[in-house]
Amino acid sequence: MSSLVPGYIEELVPYQPGKPIEDVERELGLSEVIKLASNENPLGTAPRARAAVERALDEVRLYPDGDARRLKAALSERFGFDRSEILLGNGSNDIIELLLRTFMQPGRNVVSSAGAFAIFKLATRALGFAFRESPMTPDCGYDLDAMAERVDEHTRIVFLANPNNPTGSSLGAEELARFVERVDAKCPDDPPIIVHDEAYREYVDRPDYPDGPALVRRRPRTVVMRTFSKAYGLAGIRCGYAFADPELVDYVNRVRAPFNVNHLAQAAGEAALGDDDFVARSVAQNRDSREHLTRALRERGLGVYPTQANFLLVDFHRDGQEVFEALQRQGVIVRPLKPYGLTTHQRVTIGTPEQIDRLLGAIDAAGLS
Ligand SMILES: *Cc1c(COP(=O)(O)O)cnc(C)c1O
Repeated sequence: MSSLVPGYIEELVPYQPGKPIEDVERELGLSEVIKLASNENPLGTAPRARAAVERALDEVRLYPDGDARRLKAALSERFGFDRSEILLGNGSNDIIELLLRTFMQPGRNVVSSAGAFAIFKLATRALGFAFRESPMTPDCGYDLDAMAERVDEHTRIVFLANPNNPTGSSLGAEELARFVERVDAKCPDDPPIIVHDEAYREYVDRPDYPDGPALVRRRPRTVVMRTFSKAYGLAGIRCGYAFADPELVDYVNRVRAPFNVNHLAQAAGEAALGDDDFVARSVAQNRDSREHLTRALRERGLGVYPTQANFLLVDFHRDGQEVFEALQRQGVIVRPLKPYGLTTHQRVTIGTPEQIDRLLGAIDAAGLS
C-alpha cells in the first residue's frame, strides 16, 4: 500500500509544547503547580492590551481587517517602517512558515544551527526541504563560521534566533556583520534571505546587540522578526510581526491567509505597543531575577549559561528526563532539552521572585543540587 503522506512528513516528530498546569496537577494530584517551561511573561499581560481585547470583543461578529491597518499604523509609528514593509502573523511561528512557503522551491535549502529554535527545522522539514545545520559551539552558541560554510548558491533562507531559544545565547553586531559579509560573498548574485528572529529583543541588554532594522534597510534580503508573545505577555493571543523589504512583504501577502491575524490579536498588539510601562517593568524584573537565579543555581553546583533572554539554560549534570520528572513531582514544570541533543540540560523560564523560590526549593527537595 502506498503511504498516506510524503516520506518527509512520516519522519516528523511533533513539537512538544510545555504541559498545561492543569494536566500536571490532575496527573500528580498536586495543587499550585508552577510552569517555567514556555518563556511566558510571569507578570501577566500588558494591561492596555487586556482592556483593548475586552473592547474588541464587541466586534468579533465581523471578520478582522485583513490588512490590519491600525496595528500596522501603530508599528509604523513606533519603528519607522512603512506599512508596505510590515508583515504580520498568527504568532511569529506563522511568519516562519509563510517565509518558507513563499520563498522555498525544490532544490533550495535552509541553513541554521543545531540548538536553534526548533520550529525553524520542523517547519522546513514539514515542507520537505533540506535543512542544513552547523554544530553548536561548546558553550551552546552559534558557530557562525561553520554556518557560513553550509551556505551555498542554493541556500534560500538562513534562520538566526538572537537571542536563541533554548540556549539563551546571543550574537553581537560585529560577528553578525562578518557572517552576513561571508554569506553575501558566497552568493553575490542571489543572496539568501537572512531571518533575524528577535523574539526576546526587549530583554536584551548587551550594548553591542545588532541593529536589525538597520540591516533590513541596508540589505533588502533581510527579515527582522518580533513577537507580542514574550515581553508583552500575549503568547495566547498569537500575534507576531516582521520588518522586510516591500518586495518580500508583497510576495508573502500573496501566500498568507487573508485573515491570518485575528481581530482580538490586532487590537491587543496595537494597544500593547502603547504599554511601555508594562514592558519596562517586565524587563527590569527579568534582569534582577536573571542575576539572582543564575547565582543561586551556580551556588548549587549547576551549570548556568549566559543568557540575554527571559530563560536560563541549566545543566543539571544528570539525566534530563529524570530531572524534569523530579521537579514536576515538586510542582515545578521546566523544559527538558533532549530533542536538541542537550541530554542533561533544562530550559528554565525566569519567573517572579516567588516562583524562583519555589524552583530553588524544589531543586533542594529533590536532591538535585
Ligand atoms: C517564543 C519564540 C518565538 C515567538 O513565537 P510566537 O509564534 O510569536 O509566539 C519566536 N522565536 C523564538 C526563538 C521564540 O523563542
